[in-house]
Amino acid sequence: NSKLSTRVQAVKPSPTLAITARAAALRAAGEDVIGLGAGEPDFDTPEHIKVAAKAAIDQGKTKYTAVDGTATLKQAVIDKFKRDNGFDYQPEQILVSSGGKQSFFNLCQAILDPGDEVIIPAPYWVSYPDMVVLAGAAPVLVHADASQQFKITPAQLEGAITDNTRLFVINSPSNPTGMAYSQEELAALGEILLNHPRIVVATDDMYEHILWPGKSFVNILNACPDLYPRTLVLNGVSKAYSMTGWRIGYAGGPADIIKAMKKIQSQSTSNPCSISQYAAEAALNGPQDCIAEMLTAFKSRHDYVVERLNSIDGMQALPSDGTFYVFPQVEGFIERLNGINDDLELAEYLIEKAGVALVPGTAFGSPGHIRLSIATSMENLEKALDRIAAI
Ligand code: PLP
Repeated sequence: NSKLSTRVQAVKPSPTLAITARAAALRAAGEDVIGLGAGEPDFDTPEHIKVAAKAAIDQGKTKYTAVDGTATLKQAVIDKFKRDNGFDYQPEQILVSSGGKQSFFNLCQAILDPGDEVIIPAPYWVSYPDMVVLAGAAPVLVHADASQQFKITPAQLEGAITDNTRLFVINSPSNPTGMAYSQEELAALGEILLNHPRIVVATDDMYEHILWPGKSFVNILNACPDLYPRTLVLNGVSKAYSMTGWRIGYAGGPADIIKAMKKIQSQSTSNPCSISQYAAEAALNGPQDCIAEMLTAFKSRHDYVVERLNSIDGMQALPSDGTFYVFPQVEGFIERLNGINDDLELAEYLIEKAGVALVPGTAFGSPGHIRLSIATSMENLEKALDRIAAI
């Protein structure tokens, strides 16, 4: 047995990627498994984006670029932040990375030391706590359940802050709950943070565009502009443009932190894929109606799935504000099943007995729930819910 680092032994592999791989393996072995585990849109990358990537290849844009991204992509990011969010950034405040995942990883490596604490509202995106641990720091989880629409209160935030708090992470709309904080809720959290100037704020806006019609996107920096000198705005093209495989994420923030994140990136992966950068530029600068098409499909699937789940004895699903996830409470359902004691066992049972792969809430820090991805066809969703309802 090889000796592995203490660091790697302290973390676990991404549970969502593991479920997706498991469902794919079962399908390859001939099993009829419906995958509701994936965190990616089921749509193809829009044509104009693919055309830009092919042109980049043909024009020989296939070499190293600047570590922090090409000048033209960084300008597209600056324009996007101005256009959609009202934020002003200079080029030295922008870093393009290999996915939003690397943006957050770079941030943790750049600002955290052993002894530092990071406040993470739960349910959380699976990777935050592990990336904090990889940086030697300690995640401090603040739990919010369905009774508070999975959103933490200012009192909870205040209660979690200590002298060691270095970073606060907020993800709205949220993976896995689909809930978005309102401007007032964000302003109230911001008020608390204004009293604690050493805390850096990371707003993960990955699902900015996957918000139901009638709701407008707002993040904590919009609600509390005074946080600008210590807020990192994290975003990317993966979810909005169905570009998960292209691996482009970006961050805007204070120049000194961005520079430190760039240094980490320069000694690990260097620049993100050059071809993907040209594709991302086309995504950000090009027509945005491709987003609306996906959104219409996600919304009708969401309405269907929430209604079906709520008709199952022992399940309660709140309608969400956006994203392509539904996060029902399933405690009553678990109680009905002999030999099943928790959401982990339920997920195992569903994949084995019903041929439905989904992620247990425990993976997101919220036992007693499951996460269904609705980024699959209506036909698959109908079949999956029929199977679950028949249990
Ligand atoms: N942030 C959140 C909340 C996510 O759900 C994801 C992907 O699942 C990411 C960031 C990272 O996305 P990517 O690395 O594909 O850009």
